[in-house]
Amino acid sequence: MTISRQNLNFVPFVSVDAMMRLVLHLGVERVLVDLAATIEEDFRRWPLFDKTPRIASHSEVGVIELMPTSDGEMYGFKYVNGHPKNMKEGLQTVTAFGLLADVNTGYPVLLSEMTILTALRTAAMSALAAKWLARKGAKTMAMIGNGAQSEFQALAFRAICGVTEVRLYDIDPAATRKCAANLEGSGLTVAACATPEEAILGADIITTVTADKQNATILTDNMVGPGVHINAIGGDCPGKTELHSDILLRSDIFVEYPPQTRIEGEIQQLAPDHPVKELWQVITGAIAGRESDRAITLFDSVGFAIEDFSALRYVLRQLRALPKGLGFSEDLDMIADPDEPRDLYGMLLRKKAQMG
Ligand code: NAD
Repeated sequence: MTISRQNLNFVPFVSVDAMMRLVLHLGVERVLVDLAATIEEDFRRWPLFDKTPRIASHSEVGVIELMPTSDGEMYGFKYVNGHPKNMKEGLQTVTAFGLLADVNTGYPVLLSEMTILTALRTAAMSALAAKWLARKGAKTMAMIGNGAQSEFQALAFRAICGVTEVRLYDIDPAATRKCAANLEGSGLTVAACATPEEAILGADIITTVTADKQNATILTDNMVGPGVHINAIGGDCPGKTELHSDILLRSDIFVEYPPQTRIEGEIQQLAPDHPVKELWQVITGAIAGRESDRAITLFDSVGFAIEDFSALRYVLRQLRALPKGLGFSEDLDMIADPDEPRDLYGMLLRKKAQMG
């Protein structure tokens, strides 16, 4: 696509409202399926990307992180926070925005809200991992933690893995009621459970998606039987984990980017050289995924920059394909454009004259 000079100075911005309209226009399940496909496409070209553990700024109450990457043509980053105490104050635990830029000029080509997009990409990533790792024919998923991410997770597992039943548990029954109500009419059979043990009864997949800034024990060793796939989302920061370490010792552990997961994931509880497998290598066929029907597979998810890059790339592709008049983005005047590139100050003077 040729981009005119004038277009370069105006950066499409996708607000929260525009993202909601875009996602509803395309359909939530279609977006989840498309995002999983885009992430899978990028995981297949994993070696091409710049990779670094995300840059985290921790405080007593949470974390603020920057997540950069590039495939050599586009550069992207996400700003994201994680503040478990926010929810009690009526604020989101996780909020985010992100940017894509053209490596050739360094000019931004997209600025987007990423709070909704993160929930969608996290769910798509989880379901993509389970597609490769869970037992064939897995139909039932337990979901411990029924907060902001939970419905997205349930819908992605339905659309991508063929899950038909979700069994919900949260320490706060109001969260479970909210999640169950939101999933009404989704085609999923939903069971609200009174204990985590009841939720995992008969589950082929267990998703843990709680938020607490501590080493919590959402699952203990005796709760996890052979053949289960665990999708552990909520342990994603130093000192913030969800699983008892004995579960990790019995599991085949799959991760996104080991240098980041060893700092942030469940495996921070293990020795620094404990063997883990990289999901991208399962996807390319370089290594095996699940080794038997009795194996316990664990996706120790923390969220990696390439997934956000994929999500932004997907949004940009949609914006360019859909008619502009639908209003899924607005143009932001973000890049200074003096008539002569070196005359930036002159541009300011001309503005002053104009303003009288
Ligand atoms: P949220 O605050 O909206 O919901 C968390 C829910 O967990 C709440 O309903 C809370 O009551 C429940 N909970 C807390 N402790 C529990 C326990 N011991 N047992 C059962 N339920 C419990 O948070 P969210 O936006 O849904 O995010 C959930 C977690 O996922 C956070 O920890 C967040 O950091 C993490 N996250 C990870 C990724 C990733 O890529 N891995 C992406 C986004 C969010």
